[in-house]
Amino acid sequence: MATEIRQDKVSKNWIIYAPSRTQRPSSFRQEGPEAEGLPDHEPSCPFCKGNEDQLPDILMELQNPNITEWQTRVVPNKFPALTQEGDTRRHLEGIYLTMPGHGVHEVIIETPRHNRQPSRMSLEEVGAIVETYHRRYIDLLYRHQSMMALIFRNHGPKAGTSLIHPHSQLVVTSVVPHDVRWREQKEQRYFDDWGRCVVCEVVEHELQIHERVIFENESFVAFVPFAAAVPFESWIVPKRHEADFGDISDPEKEDFAAALRDMLRRLREKLNDPSYNYLINTAARHKASEPHLHWYLQIQPRLTTSAGFEMGSGMRINPSLPEEDAAYLNSDDAA
Ligand SMILES: [Zn+2]
Ligand SMILES: [Zn+2]
Repeated sequence: MATEIRQDKVSKNWIIYAPSRTQRPSSFRQEGPEAEGLPDHEPSCPFCKGNEDQLPDILMELQNPNITEWQTRVVPNKFPALTQEGDTRRHLEGIYLTMPGHGVHEVIIETPRHNRQPSRMSLEEVGAIVETYHRRYIDLLYRHQSMMALIFRNHGPKAGTSLIHPHSQLVVTSVVPHDVRWREQKEQRYFDDWGRCVVCEVVEHELQIHERVIFENESFVAFVPFAAAVPFESWIVPKRHEADFGDISDPEKEDFAAALRDMLRRLREKLNDPSYNYLINTAARHKASEPHLHWYLQIQPRLTTSAGFEMGSGMRINPSLPEEDAAYLNSDDAA
């Protein structure tokens, strides 16, 4: 069977497509949903309500107007990857460059309920998560020495989750990570060559051909990208050109929450609650109003394992075709 290599138009990465004859999209369905049978409240869980004494601190809360309690809560990560100690000065250790692990690492607790995953939440509940992302992002990014704020979510055992209680994380770095800079440079190059934002062009094209689109509302579109790196990867992209997630408007937040909720619900229903990671790809702080950058949320389910070839080349081998994944996510049957 002939294979194909496609280029991701934004990152310029090449992805190999090697679908096997036996592998159909439905074969990626998982054995059993992880959250099944979990209690609403778990006495030993630090993120459950009533267990505040197990938290290092509470940095922010969004209240639920319908019930007189918190809806989302932001706390410091108990085992932070980066801390606010030290500064951003680099120094040499022999011939090697090093610096203090300066930054911020927070956890966004998405609900007081231990077993309430976003794929089962109401639009208001997912809206509260998006609102919390935005407030923390704005607050932290504009602090001195912040270079980049990364918001991400790990779901399920294969995605590196250590706590089941629904949560996301926010890491603020004092360096611009290599992959972020790489993507920015590729997008800038595209703008210099063609005079337009590459992501705007991708969005326009995907809406026009409508082959991989999964969900659309007034301000967002969700689709499986042409060169998806893993089976069922999807992007949720603002239709309006917007470099920085921090610039999202209130009506856009609502549309973003609707798109996110829809995509997570489809993954749960069609693939039986797979592990996944998502992150918000957005401009580094000093690039926030550039005409060539365009933020989007990227979801990658953990259905395959990368191995030596990927490690040595940076090229992924995807056993599933994006068009077939999109058709499966759009199909009416559950299996
Ligand atoms: Zn809990
Ligand atoms: Zn754009």
